[in-house]
Amino acid sequence: QGTWKMGQSSFCRSEEIKALKHGVELGMNLIDTAEMYGNEKLVGEAICNCRDKVFLVSKVLPNNASFQGTKLACERSLQRLGVEYIDLYLLHWIGNHPFSETVEAMNELRKEGKIGMWGMSNIDVADMENIISLPDGNHCATDQVLYNLSNRGVEFDLLPWCQQHNMPVMAYSPIGEGRLLHNSVLVDIARRHDVSPAQIALTWTMRLPGIIAIPKAGSIAHVEDNYRSLSVCLTEEDLHELDTVFPTPTKKVLLAGW
Ligand code: NAP
Repeated sequence: QGTWKMGQSSFCRSEEIKALKHGVELGMNLIDTAEMYGNEKLVGEAICNCRDKVFLVSKVLPNNASFQGTKLACERSLQRLGVEYIDLYLLHWIGNHPFSETVEAMNELRKEGKIGMWGMSNIDVADMENIISLPDGNHCATDQVLYNLSNRGVEFDLLPWCQQHNMPVMAYSPIGEGRLLHNSVLVDIARRHDVSPAQIALTWTMRLPGIIAIPKAGSIAHVEDNYRSLSVCLTEEDLHELDTVFPTPTKKVLLAGW
């Protein structure tokens, strides 16, 4: 479950908390936040009675990602979230601090039990190579990247690289921030399966092994809809139609995102 843009309006706060809790009850137990989102307190409130069931992800801002800065940012996130540890802590995107400092801090946080694992976000193949070649860099657990039907660039090189390295990929914006919902091909396929276009977008994103999708849903209705995507099976015909409208890349595409 994604959370970007949650907590921006006090009017929606209680519904967003209920939505996250409901998702956890359904078994969608990964919750993705970040210091940047300014909503770690909301997430903390949503998980305070079910911390043991949740796999909590947060991220350090690149500006804070020096050795000391990463450690301090993590402490602040722990405080805001009201938890003793974060399951997975990511560098949000590449900044000016050397990866070696961030990675050293991540490994120390892991040894101290403040985080369970660490990983990266918005990092392309060449930098991933650098990261895993650092001391203890091979502990990098994931790369969280933009991946959805209209953003398939990572299929050219980053996804195969992650598969080769047994590294799961977290697909963010799997519904294209809502923009995919009105695509006529998606709508047609959804109608054939008697499901929603969001479910088609999510099922497609998770069709390959080693990829999880982290949709953000601000209501119980959307959470339930997204949960049902786990039961959708796309046919060869569906996949072919989607490939025609959203072709797979034939050359290197710079990683989109931040
Ligand atoms: P998204 O999940 O692709 O789309 C979210 C939008 O889709 C919201 O407007 C939501 O509306 C709507 N939606 C969700 N489920 C729906 C359903 N079943 N039917 C209709 N509409 C539905 O976009 P995202 O928030 O950009 O990405 C997901 C998460 O990835 C983020 O929340 C964040 O945790 C993470 N992310 C990470 C990065 C990074 O740099 N690492 C960047 C972007 C995002 P409601 O809110 O009304 O439910």
